[in-house]
Amino acid sequence: MKILVIGGGGREHALVWKIAQSPLVEKLYCAPGNPGTAELAENLPLQVDELDKLLEFALKNDIALTVVGPEQPLSLGIVDLFESNGLKIFGPRKNAAIIEASKAFSKDLMLKYNVPTAAYGVFTEVGPAEAFIDRTGLPIVVKADGLAAGKGVIIAQTRDEAVGAVKDMLGGNAFGSAGSRVVIEEFLVGEEASFLAITDGKHIVPLASAQDHKAVFDGDLGPNTGGMGAYSPAPVVTPEIHEIAMAEVLRPTIDGMATEGRPYCGVLYAGLMVKDGQVKTLEFNARFGDPECQPLLMRMKSDLVPVLMAVADGDLSTTVIEWHDKAAVCVVMAAEGYPGSYRKGDAIEGLEEAAQLEDVHVFHAGTALDSGRCVTNGGRVLGVTALGETVQTAILKAYQAVGAISWKGAHYRKDIGKKAIDR
Ligand code: ATP
Repeated sequence: MKILVIGGGGREHALVWKIAQSPLVEKLYCAPGNPGTAELAENLPLQVDELDKLLEFALKNDIALTVVGPEQPLSLGIVDLFESNGLKIFGPRKNAAIIEASKAFSKDLMLKYNVPTAAYGVFTEVGPAEAFIDRTGLPIVVKADGLAAGKGVIIAQTRDEAVGAVKDMLGGNAFGSAGSRVVIEEFLVGEEASFLAITDGKHIVPLASAQDHKAVFDGDLGPNTGGMGAYSPAPVVTPEIHEIAMAEVLRPTIDGMATEGRPYCGVLYAGLMVKDGQVKTLEFNARFGDPECQPLLMRMKSDLVPVLMAVADGDLSTTVIEWHDKAAVCVVMAAEGYPGSYRKGDAIEGLEEAAQLEDVHVFHAGTALDSGRCVTNGGRVLGVTALGETVQTAILKAYQAVGAISWKGAHYRKDIGKKAIDR
């Protein structure tokens, strides 16, 4: 069959890499893709928000399955558009993708269906928001309601910082319309884990556990990024925590969405905070996490295509996913300046050498070709991912590959996976 993957980051390179291994695939496309996906698929000059052009391409080319990577086309309604034209597509419809696109919606859903989460309030005016901040105390978390590429969350240590963030967001200075409502919530402590599950709206098939590293510097210091690395499995997700997450978070959320008339199909990503054997939900995402997707797919033994197809067909009742009993670690290499404004166009050296290392895969995220040379073209440039018998060996292999790659101003965290070993 012919498959189209939508997106052009590290997550989509990992999806293309995994899908390309399926014997069911006869031709693979990626829109817009990147130089990494170009080695395995045909890249299309179509952007992720050009829904009509994507539809036209899929109809004309007999695409049997479309797989949506990023959140933006989901919240624009790409699934509704493709389905109404008789096409199979993996991802939630617009009225379900709102679980990520509006934090106020997802918090209200959690409250209604007893999904454990931080105490919160939703505000459109500064006065009541200030009163809530004073009642709740510090530190406190201020979030823009809408999509802000992982950067719409301020953890405020002082009242001035919290109120300043509220004013910036509500005033439209930060995040535009995504900040026209704010969610303010109690600060939670604990260890974070990413819990992803595939669902057809009724059946839930959990994926292996993973942990992301959001802060830019070692020791979780510095501003948050889209993610500086990830590993799987995450030891913080013990079998007991897994059961709790399924029973208290995934099950009531999927059932709640169905009850609300917003059946959720696709991959649901729950960001969890784990403490003292308890789980609270930080957020939901309507797609695979990036970079968690990279180590997860390296550990997946099963063919991904029948799993995605079963969701698009609306029946996961017989789907089982098998995993390699190994660990995987992804180290993100970023451009100088990231997560602030960053350099572009620097030549990347050492990709061939890294590619020769066993059990290592270098996923492209922000790269481009310039006269045949691979150059930096985004904040997160590469996701260097390795599989190992243990987390320790996966870490060693990933950093060996990172050591082979260089460009001017490249930076990366040196402690990805350390938390798993410390446990
Ligand atoms: P992303 O898209 O990158 O996943 P996001 O913008 O959707 O992020 P959240 O996941 O809600 O935002 O928050 C980002 C990070 O901020 C979390 O991973 C966590 O580290 C921190 N955070 C969010 N809410 C809280 C909270 N209530 N208490 C403590 N930390 C929090």
